[in-house]
Amino acid sequence: MARSLEVLERARRVLVGGVNSPVRALVKPYPLVVERARGSRVWSVDGEELIDFIMGYGPLLLGHAHPEVAAAVAEQLEKGWLYAAVTEAEVELAERLVSLYKPGGMARLVNSGTEATMTAIRLARGYTGRDYIVKFDGAYHGAHDAVLVSAGSAAGHLGVPSSPGIPAECASKTLVAEFNNEESVERVFEEHGGDIAAVIVEPVMANIGVIPPRKGFLDFVARTARRHGALVIFDEVVTGFRLHLRGAQEVYGVEADLVTMGKVIGGGFPVGAVVGRREVMRHLAPEGKVFNAGTFNGHPVTVAAGLATVRVAERINAPGIVAERARELEEAVHEALRGVGVEYTVNRAGGVLQFYLGVGRVETAADARRADKAAYARLHEALRRRGILVTPSQLEALFPSTAHTGEDVEAFRRALREAAREALG
Ligand code: PLP
Repeated sequence: MARSLEVLERARRVLVGGVNSPVRALVKPYPLVVERARGSRVWSVDGEELIDFIMGYGPLLLGHAHPEVAAAVAEQLEKGWLYAAVTEAEVELAERLVSLYKPGGMARLVNSGTEATMTAIRLARGYTGRDYIVKFDGAYHGAHDAVLVSAGSAAGHLGVPSSPGIPAECASKTLVAEFNNEESVERVFEEHGGDIAAVIVEPVMANIGVIPPRKGFLDFVARTARRHGALVIFDEVVTGFRLHLRGAQEVYGVEADLVTMGKVIGGGFPVGAVVGRREVMRHLAPEGKVFNAGTFNGHPVTVAAGLATVRVAERINAPGIVAERARELEEAVHEALRGVGVEYTVNRAGGVLQFYLGVGRVETAADARRADKAAYARLHEALRRRGILVTPSQLEALFPSTAHTGEDVEAFRRALREAAREALG
């Protein structure tokens, strides 16, 4: 603890809030200062050993420091690490993405999920010549102006900035509908249909806890958008290679026009990608006029790590393994929380899950926001003291990896039983 507190004191002097991304500041009793990680574990600078169910918020599908990923990165480092030129490896990664992800076509590699959704939205606007986009309340698509928008008045759907610094005019071009509510989708398109370039949707909402789509909802969204001449963007930054090797589109039987990806396809290195219909993608520079560029686009180290991760994921069917682990974790949550008699609900889609305290059903962002945050924070802290690291916010998700063993799940079960009694009993 002494060493952590020393580093954190220095951090607070030079990093805003002592961190470089806000959610890290929420970890109780003080932010985690990590020294190293391997497999399912992280070790703090104080030697604290934790079973990590955050896994970088999703990218580490194979766990920390997977040997095949490490070897691919080491091999690339020997050959230099930045060329600003074409590499065969980036072509192979793009080939894999377009062959696995409907509607196929072409890809552009960028450096984060944020850049991927920013690029896809600009492309949709450039392609259609329309300015409005539709997103869903509670969905997260990264940290740029078009999507950092919350629901305004329920009647109007016009978005309002969810951060200072975003011009109201910019946010007003983003219309906000309610996830799992077909009527709200219908209404947005009826009011603004001819001006809407695209709808962007997380097929499983995974940034407000976890909210899977109701049966038929995604198909309804896609059909409604297309009826009005708008493109369908599936944001598979979380669901890509986690729900299925072919993503959520395969699981829910819906096809997008553009798919945004990130996380797993960089194997833990910064990455994003847009995959989509050839005819639309061709509007990106240099073939078309919609601008996107990046010094680090298709970064050789990221591509090496991403390709290795994707190859291993295919070979061992990683989505199947993490779905089974997530199912076991779900069971453990039921057992522990039923035991203390609190109201709760667990939502899971394949290998991603979250539980909410104090609410009996969560199908919309509004339901999720009613959950008991203070109780969750107490539970998170009680779990950390028992060697289990879960996300510090109930409105994030748990990400098991293929490195988590049955014993890790048992440790989670035992710790949660005790922690629930202590924090919620
Ligand atoms: N889209 C979704 C669905 C995400 O979950 C995230 C990040 O959590 C992003 C986009 C943004 O990705 P990044 O953090 O790589 O910019």
